[in-house]
Amino acid sequence: MLFLYNTLTRKKEIFKPVKDKKAGIYSCGPTVYSSAHLGNLRTYIFSDVLKRVLIYKGYKVKQVMNITDVGHLTSDADTGEDKVEKAAKKEKKTAWQIAKHYTKIFLNDTRKLNIIKPEIVAKATDQIKEDILLIKALEEKGFTYKTKDGLYFDTSKFKNYGALTGLSFSELKKNLKAGSRVEFSPEKKNITDFSLWKFSPPTKQRQMEWDSPWGKGFPGWHLECAVINLKYLGRAYNRSGFFPEKAQTIDIHTGGKDHINIHHSNEIAQAEAATGKKFVNFWLHGEFLVFKNLRMGKSEGNAVLIKDLEEKKYPPLAFRYLVLMNHYRKPLEFSWESLTGAKNALDNLYNFVLECQEDKKNKKAKKTSKTCAFLIKNLKKDFEAAINDDLNTPQALAVLWNLINSYSEAKKKSNWQKNINPKEIYKTILQFDKILGLRLNEVKPIKLPLEIKKIIKEREMLRKNKEWEKADRLRKAIENKDFFVQDTPEGTKIRIKNPSIRLWPKK
Ligand SMILES: [Zn+2]
Repeated sequence: MLFLYNTLTRKKEIFKPVKDKKAGIYSCGPTVYSSAHLGNLRTYIFSDVLKRVLIYKGYKVKQVMNITDVGHLTSDADTGEDKVEKAAKKEKKTAWQIAKHYTKIFLNDTRKLNIIKPEIVAKATDQIKEDILLIKALEEKGFTYKTKDGLYFDTSKFKNYGALTGLSFSELKKNLKAGSRVEFSPEKKNITDFSLWKFSPPTKQRQMEWDSPWGKGFPGWHLECAVINLKYLGRAYNRSGFFPEKAQTIDIHTGGKDHINIHHSNEIAQAEAATGKKFVNFWLHGEFLVFKNLRMGKSEGNAVLIKDLEEKKYPPLAFRYLVLMNHYRKPLEFSWESLTGAKNALDNLYNFVLECQEDKKNKKAKKTSKTCAFLIKNLKKDFEAAINDDLNTPQALAVLWNLINSYSEAKKKSNWQKNINPKEIYKTILQFDKILGLRLNEVKPIKLPLEIKKIIKEREMLRKNKEWEKADRLRKAIENKDFFVQDTPEGTKIRIKNPSIRLWPKK
């Protein structure tokens, strides 16, 4: 049984899908006005692990993610400039070009982190018709009011507004007022009210704008996520229109913790006001990435990008490994030292996989012994217990290393092939990696260059003749060529340095 921590109920609950053996996940996507930083990407690694766990457990998973290419203003309280249009001005491109450019970078970055692409990636600008239908439904039910700059959702009309935050309506309002980043527009009835449709400014020509029954303008940021959810997972839309009464509850919604108070509370308000049904069963939130004592963020000025990792010769997967070393609901302190540690661990892991591949060819390695079967059975149980406990990846990684260490220990004994079977160990590791996503299944034996092969042979001769000093010189020569030597009871083994970089050259 899979336990997940549900922000809505503030406890770990057993995951039960709405439909047997199917799971729907909605993940709030990026606003494509600049590159996503490692703090943003941490959240997508967490939702990727969630997805992999559900697939591992036999669910048919449908994941939907939005791309915010319009409507996200510089302040979450619906004031300020549109982030995409602002970037367009700065970079002297059109808003459409900016959105396309950063969407491509985002998808490329997630690919480098081995994040499985969501089944559906939906752009906000492709939902205008659906947006208008949802707003109309809310208008008919009396949840909206008009101001000079747009059409707003009246949060005081929605019972239980802010339930996700665990705060009462009055506490929530007080809380928002205290937050200095939120400007209170005098025309809004409540500070918690938010725009459904913003009017284009009368004096300026916007690049992205559409006609609507209320006037020319663009959809609010919170609206797009409610609409995309209801369209692709809630199945409330079809060709003839919007049918809120037909909406289905969605299994899981993921996002960063910073979205609980405003963005996700507003998504719930819009969807539930329109459909009268529970919007989402499980709300899962990832914690922040902290860098130099501050939450990593663009406005904080401490953003690190995938591009920066690559420039410093870190493979992006080292960051994935670092993220897995920490539970998603705990703040993660990022530093270059911790990233180096993660990279080294990843290198050791890849070299172990290469060793296991070699051992599989060993003719003495035969059928699985009882001890080996027992070991694997127990560790598999431990691994699954870890992931079932609210995706405890640090514990799951510990189990993986436990397996590796047990294998290495067993190999120290003579006739080790009787006790442990490299084929079974290898198979188990690849199974674990279906969840960890460290691309262990893609590790292929490396062809040694002829030059290295020659040196190895020569060195073996020297060792036979006990010419240690000369042999040592050749060992250093090998090490200068990005390989290193391990002398084992079965003879000399050559391992590669930095497999995490060498196996996957930058694409
Ligand atoms: Zn969202």
